[in-house]
Amino acid sequence: MSRFLSQRFSTLTAYTPGEQPKIKNIIKLNSNELPYPPSKAVSAAVKESSENLNRYCDIGCTRLREALGANLKVAPEKIIMTNGSDEILNFAFMAYGDKPFAFPDISYGFYTVFCALHKIAYEEIPLNEELGINPEDYIGIGKNIVIANPNAPTGLALPLSDIERIVASNPDNIVIIDEAYIDFGGESAIGLIDRYENLMVTRTFSKSFALAGARLGFGIANEKLIADMDLIKFSTNPYNVNSLTQAAGLAAVETADYYMSCCDKIKETRAYTATALRELGFKVIGEDANFLFASSDKISGEELLTKLRERAIIVRHFSAERIKNYNRITIGTREQMETLIKSIKEIIS
Ligand SMILES: *Cc1c(COP(=O)(O)O)cnc(C)c1O
Repeated sequence: MSRFLSQRFSTLTAYTPGEQPKIKNIIKLNSNELPYPPSKAVSAAVKESSENLNRYCDIGCTRLREALGANLKVAPEKIIMTNGSDEILNFAFMAYGDKPFAFPDISYGFYTVFCALHKIAYEEIPLNEELGINPEDYIGIGKNIVIANPNAPTGLALPLSDIERIVASNPDNIVIIDEAYIDFGGESAIGLIDRYENLMVTRTFSKSFALAGARLGFGIANEKLIADMDLIKFSTNPYNVNSLTQAAGLAAVETADYYMSCCDKIKETRAYTATALRELGFKVIGEDANFLFASSDKISGEELLTKLRERAIIVRHFSAERIKNYNRITIGTREQMETLIKSIKEIIS
């Protein structure tokens, strides 16, 4: 860093994204992207939209919010579009950081980074023995709460009844439910936003809608919380969602059926992969997201990562003590997963 960097950032440790390697014929199972391309309508819409790039984009993302609202049965006024869901999460941490946050000790790595960035106190609540969230730990905790549901990298979802108890028991704190993986399993909390003024749900187009590269996410909450988010948005980057991405998102929502059938394929392939891994003696945790979290007594997590990489298969490993024997494996196409299983068989025999 330079000697000019503000003191307040001098000890900041940034988030480490999954790598985007440039290896040929790689089987990329490390960032939970969809292995299928966007629908045909998306590239046509982007091309058409590109003809108006001389103009600023619609700061309200009006057409996109209307289509999304109709799709999710939520009023467009209760939706805010952002540059990936990382941005809505950042806005929320920034807006509500006077009070400490609580979240699981094993979850999305960005939560601790946002706390460090905005100097917010936080408590990491340990997952239970089976790497699940114990809802009782959050009942009446009196802190702001962020829970990824399904959680990452464990792939386990909490039932909606538990989410509702957590939200209801912390009426003076914000509860954010990060539903990045909800299209692959679990029950959404969107239906609760009118009942609980402290609830915000965040979503992304990066996973189930095959638009990771376009950077599109959103928050869903009552109008007052959305006004808070707009305050931060208009104070940092009013044009946060560019017109190409808005066009891509609108076309994606209009062809939602295609994406839901992609999610069905992922769920089938996930079941196949989980069974195959268990047959090889692996312990597989949750099956609610588009990835599996797996470990084996026969090989360390790190060795498996390395040996798969030699075969151009990239998975994600985390070095935290409790989970260092695991790898997070994104569900790819059936063919990719067959190659993965074959490779693991060779590696452990
Ligand atoms: C991928 C992911 C996000 C962020 O996705 P964006 O690409 O920024 O939309 C947020 N939360 C969780 C739990 C994720 O896995």
